[in-house]
Amino acid sequence: MTTKELIAQAEEDLLHTYNRYQIVLDRGEGVYLYDRDGKKYLDFAAGIAVFALGYGNKAYNDALKGQIDKLIHTSNLFYNEPSIEAAHKLKAVSSMDRVFFTNSGAESIEGALKSAVKYAYTKRGEKQPEVIALEHSFHGRTYGALSVTGNPHYREAFGPMNCNVSFAKMNDLASVEEKITEHTCAVIMEVVQGEGGLIPADEAFLRGVRELCDRNGILLIFDEVQCGMGRTGSMYAWQQYGVKPDIMTTAKALGCGVPVGAFLMTEEVAQYSLVPGDHGTTYGGNPFATCAVSKVLDLYEELDIVSHVNEVAPYLEEKLNGIVEKYSCATERRGKGLMQGLVLDRPVSGVIPALMDKGLIAISAGAQILRFVPPLVITKENVDEMIGILEEVLSALPDREA
Ligand SMILES: *Cc1c(COP(=O)(O)O)cnc(C)c1O
Repeated sequence: MTTKELIAQAEEDLLHTYNRYQIVLDRGEGVYLYDRDGKKYLDFAAGIAVFALGYGNKAYNDALKGQIDKLIHTSNLFYNEPSIEAAHKLKAVSSMDRVFFTNSGAESIEGALKSAVKYAYTKRGEKQPEVIALEHSFHGRTYGALSVTGNPHYREAFGPMNCNVSFAKMNDLASVEEKITEHTCAVIMEVVQGEGGLIPADEAFLRGVRELCDRNGILLIFDEVQCGMGRTGSMYAWQQYGVKPDIMTTAKALGCGVPVGAFLMTEEVAQYSLVPGDHGTTYGGNPFATCAVSKVLDLYEELDIVSHVNEVAPYLEEKLNGIVEKYSCATERRGKGLMQGLVLDRPVSGVIPALMDKGLIAISAGAQILRFVPPLVITKENVDEMIGILEEVLSALPDREA
């Protein structure tokens, strides 16, 4: 089949929930991807902030192959060694106390919300739980996660949401305080908003929210699904602010491509929260997925991924700042670490295919923002290569019509 025929086939068989770019990816090597026609792309998307270690890491691949031959799945009715190891390592890097493995980011959010609601139920008999989330947040597509996602467009067609949620503003403490009622059981937020436009929280805001939560007996949930796993220059973004959540979610880079997530909590929350019968998953934490987590965490340490991010990220920032200075179509750079956005004065939908044509994969975050979330192992040379392609495309853009 030609690539064109293959894409036509996909559009007949798959439910049309994505407007996909017109390429069929075939294999990866380091920070490069190849489509089935052999065209090479520098990857600044990493499968949406997932493939942190780059493609074809031998130690990672060998660990997975070994686990496939040993045991892939057990269910949670039994113990398995990889999940025990992975949980222990995850606790160490997150300084949380209890881990529940899931299959995705959204499922981690579901668990985090249920944990907070159960905590309020046990502690004070709360039966009308309310949650405060932030505008422009993104927490996933399942009903609970969608309920706390601050993009009305995503929620509009899907009827009443399944928990009472109000939306406050990022970096506006008064707007959070205003939403607190006697029924509020949690505040949920990303430390750096991803889909909503690469918006980092201010330190004063995070500290303020923590204090508000403590004063009112409210749990603080940090969604670290995208900004976690070293991407912003610490294993979890909150660690740079010194503001610890009560519950935290992680996914995306956690398995570096194997679908796995987790929600974690402090012992204090665990004491009053989910117990046998409250929550479960058939696949979550299976030996294959947690073997990936365990190996990923080992490799983060061995390769000192976090230090590498702190070395490369300032260079990427500097180069993107240079783009903003040089090209009037680029109005702002924002983000943190290797989670960067470039705001354009026009829709990026016309720009991304041009970048792809020239061999660069970048994605969007909202209509006018180019998002750069590369594998965390990229080098300064890779940044230069990316900037070169970006400049070629931006300099060829027509002036914006008034
Ligand atoms: C991607 C994302 C999710 C949802 O994760 P899925 O694995 O797609 O369900 C939740 N929260 C944040 C911050 C994300 O970036």
